[in-house]
Amino acid sequence: MENTLRKYFIAGNWKMNKSTTDAEDLIKSIVSEIGKQIDVTVAVCPPFTSLDTVSRIVENTNVLLGAQNMYPEINGAFTGEISPDMLRSLFCTYVILGHSERRAYFNETDEFINLKVRSALENNIKPILCVGETIEERDAGNTMNIVERHVVKGLAGVSNDFAENLVIAYEPVWAIGTGKTATPEMAQEVHHQIRRLLSNQFGEAIAAKIRILYGGSMKPANASELLDQPDIDGGLIGGAALESISFNKLVEIAIQKSA
Ligand code: PEP
Repeated sequence: MENTLRKYFIAGNWKMNKSTTDAEDLIKSIVSEIGKQIDVTVAVCPPFTSLDTVSRIVENTNVLLGAQNMYPEINGAFTGEISPDMLRSLFCTYVILGHSERRAYFNETDEFINLKVRSALENNIKPILCVGETIEERDAGNTMNIVERHVVKGLAGVSNDFAENLVIAYEPVWAIGTGKTATPEMAQEVHHQIRRLLSNQFGEAIAAKIRILYGGSMKPANASELLDQPDIDGGLIGGAALESISFNKLVEIAIQKSA
């Protein structure tokens, strides 16, 4: 990256893992080792059930809190859903939106994800918008079209006033939880295209400040080369975020590159 406009960002997506007790143990190990560092933005996104516990432990540290999903309305008859206000009351800074698992298993459309992105921004929560192609889409030569659709539709109607609070995560679906990683060159090509799309919508100066994370089997063994790419500004980490040893190592790699 080597870009003074964008600090590296390492975010952990714990998905539907960790009991409250296990979440407490994990966040304590993370905070004790990297809770004071200031060179890299670090966030953890536990399940809803552990947000409160984790929030209390990260208070007064440099580890930020994120949620894994959100409903776009502020309150009302939406059984089982969680609003931006509720997330803010737990001191969430970020929310992951449009993760491929939500698109695939919960039929989330670009239009619905866009409502959530705009609601998050308007309610002072920074969205991490996930975009990325399936293996069938890549094999058919459709990667750029799919990513363009996810970005353009996901960000429709977002004004320049809010754009700097956006984070995009490029997550090729075929690389998530599979051990297969995009090569640094493959990932960079897509990240570059995403930045071009951001530039079309918000202008070059704002696009240069928006962080684009890579996600898909990122781990200490492959992070360095990925983070060396000019448009890769960090990682959204699934499996390797479930153990403090690997997550903290990823943060340390990013710290070294920031020096
Ligand atoms: C994810 O689902 O956001 C992810 C990147 O998972 P993994 O690191 O396990 O591939």
